[in-house]
Amino acid sequence: MTSDKQLTRRGMLVGSAGVVGAVGLGAVACASAARTTRRPPTNAGVSLRWWGNNAWEITFDTTTILIDPWVTRFHTGTYSPEGSDPNTPLSWNPDLVHRCFPKADTVLLTHGHFDHLTDVPLVAAHTGATVLGTESHLNMLRALRTTDGVQAPPDQLATVTGGELYQYPDFTVQVLRSVHSATGKRRQVPFPGTRPGPQPPAVRTISDLVDGGTLGYFLTIGDRFRIFALGTGNYIPEVVDGLRPDLAIVPTGGGSMPDYAKRLLDCLGHPRFVVPTHWDDFDLPLTEPAKDTGGLTTLRDAVSAASPATEFILLDHQQQHTF
Ligand SMILES: [Zn+2]
Repeated sequence: MTSDKQLTRRGMLVGSAGVVGAVGLGAVACASAARTTRRPPTNAGVSLRWWGNNAWEITFDTTTILIDPWVTRFHTGTYSPEGSDPNTPLSWNPDLVHRCFPKADTVLLTHGHFDHLTDVPLVAAHTGATVLGTESHLNMLRALRTTDGVQAPPDQLATVTGGELYQYPDFTVQVLRSVHSATGKRRQVPFPGTRPGPQPPAVRTISDLVDGGTLGYFLTIGDRFRIFALGTGNYIPEVVDGLRPDLAIVPTGGGSMPDYAKRLLDCLGHPRFVVPTHWDDFDLPLTEPAKDTGGLTTLRDAVSAASPATEFILLDHQQQHTF
């Protein structure tokens, strides 16, 4: 099932989950909706909603898990020929964040970059969610204060390193060591580094939020559904090898690794579903259809070639799919 929340250009949510069909956000959703109907539903009762970039909302029963919940978009130039301006100040739209994420039990951070971590203080303070991240991610959160003075409540922060397997009442989380995508001829990570130890100085610009170590996640929702999620186009093959998700959330990119998608799908046992992530230009509004930054076709073709039986489900901004 596919549905949309409707977020107007003024940032107001005017709809709610459960509206079947691609409502209000253009034709991008139609392909996935059509594909979904060709196969019987798994009836797992697990819903996945995309809030752009790598922001995911996973809901089942009364539980809400968020991955990298960032919806306050601001101009950075990241996908322009000049690249991003590292001195771009961070900014926030609290009303938008609260409307998009009214409830959360757990927030999973894949890494510390601005397009993943910036809105977490607002989400954590508003929802009371537990936030899982590395020592560096959480240290940067401790140094991150919105313009309204909101900070992530320290007692909600849970440090992980990769390797943990946690049992929560309705699901398990396996935290996976991972690595960030690397670009250019020197294979460099943007805004690299870590922030262990004492709390760093105040975080004000996008370059103040460094990678901080990269994580992936493997979620098991009872015996109903298993989700594998990455937040950037890279991974450690021996860490993901042998995991058997029903759904893999796979970033576009991965150009620094030979056979990025094929190797991943082979390691994961060719999951039934793949959903692409981190493929839109986040300088553009969430209220408009997502604009491919150039990696979507490459990923789709690679998935199709490596794993023909896998269903590639493309979600547009705010769109939800229920498995
Ligand atoms: Zn990143």
